[in-house]
Amino acid sequence: MDFDLTSDQEQVRKLARDFADREIAPGARERDRNETFPADVLKKMAPLGLLGGPVPEEYGGIGLDFIGHALVTEEIGRADSSVRTTLSVQISLVELTILKFGTEAQKRRYLPKLCSGETLGCFGLTEPEAGSDATKIRTSAKRDGRDWILRGRKMWISNGSVSGMALVFAQADPAKGHRGITAFLIDREESPYGSQGLHGKLGLRSSDSSELILDDVRVPADAVLGEVGEGFKIAMSALDSGRYSVAAGAVGVAQACIDAAVTYSTQRQSFGKPIAGHQLVQEMIADMVVETEAARLLVWRAGDLKNKGRPSTRETSLAKLYASEAAQRAADNAIQIHGGYGFSDEFPVERYWRDARVNRLYEGTTQIQKLIIGRFTTGVDAMS
Ligand SMILES: Cc1cc2nc3c(=O)[nH]c(=O)nc-3n(C[C@H](O)[C@H](O)[C@H](O)COP(=O)(O)OP(=O)(O)OC[C@H]3O[C@@H](n4cnc5c(N)ncnc54)[C@H](O)[C@@H]3O)c2cc1C
Repeated sequence: MDFDLTSDQEQVRKLARDFADREIAPGARERDRNETFPADVLKKMAPLGLLGGPVPEEYGGIGLDFIGHALVTEEIGRADSSVRTTLSVQISLVELTILKFGTEAQKRRYLPKLCSGETLGCFGLTEPEAGSDATKIRTSAKRDGRDWILRGRKMWISNGSVSGMALVFAQADPAKGHRGITAFLIDREESPYGSQGLHGKLGLRSSDSSELILDDVRVPADAVLGEVGEGFKIAMSALDSGRYSVAAGAVGVAQACIDAAVTYSTQRQSFGKPIAGHQLVQEMIADMVVETEAARLLVWRAGDLKNKGRPSTRETSLAKLYASEAAQRAADNAIQIHGGYGFSDEFPVERYWRDARVNRLYEGTTQIQKLIIGRFTTGVDAMS
């Protein structure tokens, strides 16, 4: 892999960086305080093509390669993790999964609307009783003639209340265990589903998190994504794609922490000099820089494999695990460097810390990433 970015990659990074600085970062604190969904930001982002970055142009995207996709995601994550989460779900969990497993008709039906922002998508796997162990989902899919009837609850669904379509996983044949799980694309107009917003979150307060309510939702036969019984495989593939985006977003948070720490530490004085002149403060900044750059390189390595169409599950888990933990440590150091002011939302670092926390939980917790890496290393699957 060449560490020099191409001119296309540089260009899209600049586009995303300028947009993030101008349109996303300035309103982040107010949106966080008020739990306001960033609909206005998304509306401005769509015409730039950033809602469909890696989707090919023929389906409404701008055909970014995976490094370009990571660069955009990092820049958005640097400004506001809530916006980045909306984007990760829209692009990495929904659009790229339809692109990979959808029929031509499904791609033509959904991708242009998702890439243009006309529709927001959500990804419904987690349930009140089943998170890390997705084989145990209970939402049922029952045949009724050629249609399917979906019944159950999905928990913690990002974009759930604001979505116009949902990629949902349901159990179509309990006797077959995880081989009965099937993926469905639900058009909310055609097959209305309910949602209930979840409030009072520690972080990502302006991202929409909802419970999805599937009370006998009737969907047609052509709503099945992939084959009946292929849903678990599709979910794992989608999560692999989503983890890459989470990892890139976490690098963005870590970079934001460095930027804030450098600005503050070169201005704040103690013992007759800027605090950046104290070795113990420089140590914290050096730790942040090393870990952020290591995390970025792990993301780029996974992206390089994805660009080449080679397996990247192991490398994506390494990147997601390391970047999410590094971002949390960077945010903690950034608060420390800000002293008491770091504890107030006068400065953004407390939000970075709260927002970084969820990266260690969603799209497979830190423990689940370790089990995946352990399985690749030892050949023993601790999750079966
Ligand atoms: C803000 C937010 C947004 C989210 N967005 C979405 C979304 O859009 N779509 C979606 O489907 N889900 C979403 N989720 C759900 C998220 O993916 C789950 O919360 C996550 O997978 C963990 O599942 P759980 O909460 O049920 O925890 P559990 O699975 O109950 O885990 C609890 C604890 O046990 C540990 N644990 C579990 N099993 C093992 C094991 N085998 N070995 C070691 N430790 C283990 C876990 O690591 C964790 O520490 C979101 C969650 C949040 C908080």
